[in-house]
Amino acid sequence: MVGLSAPRWRDASFLQSLGAAFGTDLPPQPVSAPHWVARSNMLARSLGLVDWLDREDALALLSGAWGAHGTRTHASVYSGHQFGVWAGQLGDGRALMLGEIDTPAGPMEVQLKGSGLTPYSRMGDGRAVLRSSIREFLGSEAMHALGIPTTRALAVVGSSLPVRRETMETAAVVTRVAPSFLRFGHFEHFAHTTNDTTALRRLLDATIARYFPDLQGAAEPAAALLQEVALRTARLVAQWQAVGFCHGVMNTDNMSLLGLTIDYGPFGFLDAFDPGHICNHSDRQGRYAYARQPGVAFWNLHALAQALLPAVDGPAEAASELLLAALEPYKAEYARSMLAALRAKIGLASAHDDDQALIDELLRLMATDRADFTIAFRRLACGDRATRDVFIDRQAFDAWALRYRTRLALESSNDTERAARMNRINPKFVLRKHLAQAAIERAQQGDFSETQRLLKILERPFDEQPEHATYADHPPAGAQQIEVSCSS
Ligand code: AMP
Ligand code: MG
Repeated sequence: MVGLSAPRWRDASFLQSLGAAFGTDLPPQPVSAPHWVARSNMLARSLGLVDWLDREDALALLSGAWGAHGTRTHASVYSGHQFGVWAGQLGDGRALMLGEIDTPAGPMEVQLKGSGLTPYSRMGDGRAVLRSSIREFLGSEAMHALGIPTTRALAVVGSSLPVRRETMETAAVVTRVAPSFLRFGHFEHFAHTTNDTTALRRLLDATIARYFPDLQGAAEPAAALLQEVALRTARLVAQWQAVGFCHGVMNTDNMSLLGLTIDYGPFGFLDAFDPGHICNHSDRQGRYAYARQPGVAFWNLHALAQALLPAVDGPAEAASELLLAALEPYKAEYARSMLAALRAKIGLASAHDDDQALIDELLRLMATDRADFTIAFRRLACGDRATRDVFIDRQAFDAWALRYRTRLALESSNDTERAARMNRINPKFVLRKHLAQAAIERAQQGDFSETQRLLKILERPFDEQPEHATYADHPPAGAQQIEVSCSS
């Protein structure tokens, strides 16, 4: 591949370079009649690939058709806990690492999702449907624009290839980009599935050397890494909670070691605030309900700790204590990050003892009245009268507003300055389920303009964009009925 702006591929991607125990080299299986559905020019620009993305060979490569880009493509093996139960070996069942490229934003892994069967496909067909590919594309780009760490999506390529889910659909390929797609499950694999302590240690050492260089030379590398991952995860989940993001499938194989949001399946953003909201139709028990996400992340970190145990020298009991101690800061870091995020959401610039109680009361009122999560916080910058409208029990809101005004007076808060600050934190636009659904339905008819329009809106979630006001409205009646399940 020649051309100034074409990606420059490294010889091997990270896991591939670690040896045969970490996965399998194989080519992608192209889809038929590939065509662009969506592209993120914003991401392409930051990677220095914007001109390349306009070329025919880009479409070929990102549809899985052109394996000859000079690198060996690779599916990695991992394992994991799904819905709290050990699931054994999983792996890139429909994802394939195209390779690593050097970009102005640093080295990035480029991965296709939906590019065909791999040795880890199990009962699956190795494909992704157009519907879920558009959701992943919009979801990850929207999260990035919200300032939340995430894997990115460069493009969606559609095809005529039929794929069977509940009904017949067509296949698509998403190109995902991230510094690393490492998951908790990669560690669990060597600890529990293959019991290969040598590979586990190699993975641990290489991960630290490559992605956590500051931890090199730590007395106990496994504990140092675990603590850093715990802190990043705490901050990530606090950001999810603060924006009303529900992941939907927080299995340990869907947990990023770098603290990124990864694997967008039946995710969703809260509409009416219900702490018990379950966005994944397949999650009958509500294991991954909104309010449970911080606890589930901690549970998943314990699974990671368990996986790292064989990599710690010395008696098992001491090792176990060491790793548990490394997890401990999670709780305080989550609480600290969450309180800071919520303080910022209500426009507080300083910290006072009663802030948590003030915030809890607002969230309680929002939950009781099922106030729209995004609208309620966005309105708060417009003043009490505007916010009051989103509540049913207006007297209760007025009582809260009185406390809020008293608190603001403590820091001599300036209304205009505070409103500007809040509007940079509380988004006006999030990827509501019905918005994604409308874009998907149009795309299924061959019209991709709505997907691209939605991307453009979601790239500027904090801007007023009055011309797109309807995209910030409450969901229409019936939108709650849209079901998003694990089927993708
Ligand atoms: P997920 O819950 O989507 O993260 O997927 C869990 C596991 O199932 C991963 O190892 C995926 O690679 C695999 N998987 C999901 N869907 C498919 C599919 N259609 N074909 C092959 N593997 C799949
Ligand atoms: Mg997954």
